[in-house]
Amino acid sequence: MIPRLKASLGLKELLSALSFSKKNAILAFEKRFADLMKARYALAFPYGRTALSLGIEALHIQNKEIICPAYTCVVVAHAITYSNNTAVFVDSCPFTYNMDLTLVEKAINENTGAIIVTSIFGTPVDLEKITDIQNKYPHIKIIQDCAHSFGAEWQGNLVSNHGDFAIYGLNISKIMTSIFGGMLTANNFEIYQQIKTYRDKKLRENSFKKSLMRCLYFLSVYIAFNKTIYSIIYGLEKRGWLNRFVKYYDDSRIDMPKDYLEKMTPIEARVGLAQCDKYESIIHHRKKLARYYENKLKDYPFLKLPAMNAGATFSHFVIQTKLAAEIISYFEENNIQLGTLIDYHIPSMRAYQKNPYFSQQVSESLPGQMINLPIHTGVSQKDAEKIIDTFRAFFSIYTHSLQVDNAHSRSS
Ligand SMILES: *Cc1c(COP(=O)(O)O)cnc(C)c1O
Repeated sequence: MIPRLKASLGLKELLSALSFSKKNAILAFEKRFADLMKARYALAFPYGRTALSLGIEALHIQNKEIICPAYTCVVVAHAITYSNNTAVFVDSCPFTYNMDLTLVEKAINENTGAIIVTSIFGTPVDLEKITDIQNKYPHIKIIQDCAHSFGAEWQGNLVSNHGDFAIYGLNISKIMTSIFGGMLTANNFEIYQQIKTYRDKKLRENSFKKSLMRCLYFLSVYIAFNKTIYSIIYGLEKRGWLNRFVKYYDDSRIDMPKDYLEKMTPIEARVGLAQCDKYESIIHHRKKLARYYENKLKDYPFLKLPAMNAGATFSHFVIQTKLAAEIISYFEENNIQLGTLIDYHIPSMRAYQKNPYFSQQVSESLPGQMINLPIHTGVSQKDAEKIIDTFRAFFSIYTHSLQVDNAHSRSS
């Protein structure tokens, strides 16, 4: 079985998680994270969405419009709403799936407080165009959502270091993980101070219960990612038994986890610290595998491959195809699990139907057409070859069935 998702958690993370006597793990994680991202400052949060919401509040952006992608993780819209601002959605560019920056200009008005720029799936946003917007509207804050784009570069410059601050998600589905958790990086001292002071005022101490639950969650994930046991979990997921835990959004609700204002726990910081040592090799693996997939799949019709920007870091290797459902079930029969991120469109969700939306009819058609290939560090070269062979087999059956259909329609 090749799972769609597998955090790179090894003995090192386990030992680090269990080093209960280690002091100042959170400060150490922040410092190490800032170094990795080549940023001056980093601040730890319980979730990426908390970093976003409190970062906006700390900069005194209130009762404003905040522009964000229509096609992104729904928690971004929730974080904007929780900060007492209105999310204004902007459609995607059909090639990169990033927010279309020409449309962003149309969405800007005198009440715009900030723009959340996202390098979705790790494909870097065009920093030159963003600089143009900044020069034209210097009072509008630029926030980089780097939850998908750790280390992504636009022409050699890290997207995370462009703008007022950047946020990152660190749950187990992200490029690197601290179990749950989020980070914020900034390079301007005043902005850093302002957000740090505000964060320290708003976040309460984490409870013993939370630390214990995080520890148990970590141990169960650690075990679940073990090859043999993963197939059991996968079986449960397939039967829908895990939906209660896996499906994390409700179309009509805007909410946050109960502990979203409780500090990151030290056990999370210790896991995060151990992950920092692997960061370079994780990114290297993803880039290499993406090149391999692209090279092997580029000649198939019916598959629209990612934009393959040189600075992309591939949180997901996404393929757009009308055959998504057929491909997913064929792969499932062959014990390969494909991802379907992002399988919703925020402006169409009941909770956000009244928010402004600048559309060019791109992102509304993406849910149901997106598949992503396993690209985590658990995918070996042999696994990658199996994935390519499975595509070949799928298309040979599929084109054969098309020919049979054609022959039928001609003869009837
Ligand atoms: C995961 C994610 C976030 C926030 O992460 P959490 O830690 O789950 O709050 C923000 N933006 C995008 C695009 C994400 O995928």
